[in-house]
Amino acid sequence: MKKIRVRYAPSPTGLLHIGNARTAIFNYLFARNKGGEFIIRIEDTDIERNVEHGEKSQLDNLSWLGVDWDESPDKGGPYGPYRQLERLDIYKKYADELVLRGLAYKDYKEGSDSYGLRFKVPKGKVYEFNDLVRGPTKFLSEDIEDWIIVKDNGIPTYNFAVVIDDHLMHISHVLRGEEHITNTPKQMMVYEAFGWEIPTFGHMTLIVNEERKKLSKRDESIVQFISQYKDLGYLPEALLNFIVLLGWSPPGEKEILTKDEAISLFDTNRLSKSPSMFDNKKLKYINHEYVKKLSLEDFIELIRPFLLAAKINIESEEWLSNFSELLKDRCEYGAQIVELYNEFFSKESKLEVEAKEFLLNEEKSLETIKEFKKLLLETNFTSAEITEAINNAGKNTNVKGKSLFMPCRVATTGAMHGPDLPKSLALLGKELVIERINNVITMLEEEK
Ligand code: GLU
Repeated sequence: MKKIRVRYAPSPTGLLHIGNARTAIFNYLFARNKGGEFIIRIEDTDIERNVEHGEKSQLDNLSWLGVDWDESPDKGGPYGPYRQLERLDIYKKYADELVLRGLAYKDYKEGSDSYGLRFKVPKGKVYEFNDLVRGPTKFLSEDIEDWIIVKDNGIPTYNFAVVIDDHLMHISHVLRGEEHITNTPKQMMVYEAFGWEIPTFGHMTLIVNEERKKLSKRDESIVQFISQYKDLGYLPEALLNFIVLLGWSPPGEKEILTKDEAISLFDTNRLSKSPSMFDNKKLKYINHEYVKKLSLEDFIELIRPFLLAAKINIESEEWLSNFSELLKDRCEYGAQIVELYNEFFSKESKLEVEAKEFLLNEEKSLETIKEFKKLLLETNFTSAEITEAINNAGKNTNVKGKSLFMPCRVATTGAMHGPDLPKSLALLGKELVIERINNVITMLEEEK
């Protein structure tokens, strides 16, 4: 059987976008699932659109996502060079051959002796292929005009160079975005002109936003570049997991899957035939699942840079460890820790509606809270002493269970649920906690 060789062929025109990352990842999963090879080729022939560091952003961010490859500009390989601008001689040779054989012709610019080369589209032909995603697909040659294969600056166009490269690099399958489907017949004519075997094509459906519109790189309301997620403290394994589900699904219900699981389950038959929606909530959910699984040490390293950048005072490593332990399960992504910090240490005592109701309806809440405050004032505010104060407040006012714990929690945090209370209060510190309790006492005295 023919060796499976696939490629990701980005144009270095910007940062790695989520849609391109998906193309790269699906090719990668396919190659690894089949024991094949995965190649990165840089398609830099659109010189005006190339940006400095474009190639680097592509490769660095793919590596960060956990993708690796077998041949590329940085790694080399038997079919290099892997940057199109370094292959101009190769394209020229094949283009000249087409001219010589009458399959392409010179197209002079008006009033000048510079010319491009145009491919002569055969008449009355049907270009048919069995797309891995869409099934049988066909185009008629009469709908396609003679097209430029080499521009007057000597640089080949994408549709020409891509065929030469895919052939010379022994690419067996071309998996790419749907926007390339109309390019496929043009590419097929070049394969046919040279008598080369045509690879198997698969065109992945669009990624759309929540309004079902094609994701636009200019839409700043959706974070779309991989480096932005990295900067926000998303985890690469989680982002990879999310991207894997953008237009592909594993059998069964399972949504959280590792890279190795995705490799072993990947099957082009399960590529979606309808557009896949970029669901930001789902991305947060998946990332949150991965954050929860981090060890405390890894979580601390995830959030530390965000705390530092926000100039939050890390009192000590012990403080940081206590803080992290309390907030780890609530943190969906690294940068969110700043928000959580501000909420946690907020000076305002915002009572949740249900929490306030609870206090107003609970017979002895005011009495319990006052007793709790009195006992707290006598402690050194360690979590052990705070636990004791809660228990003694219960004994002294003769309440227990929810009637005891809830007033203590609500009076100090404003909420009915949250992380371990004594540990939270120890971290918040005496001054802040007493201030919050005083506010709640005032409110209850006025409203009860
Ligand atoms: N350079 C093309 C792109 O970035 C590659 C398309 C293909 O995979 O053939 O869209």
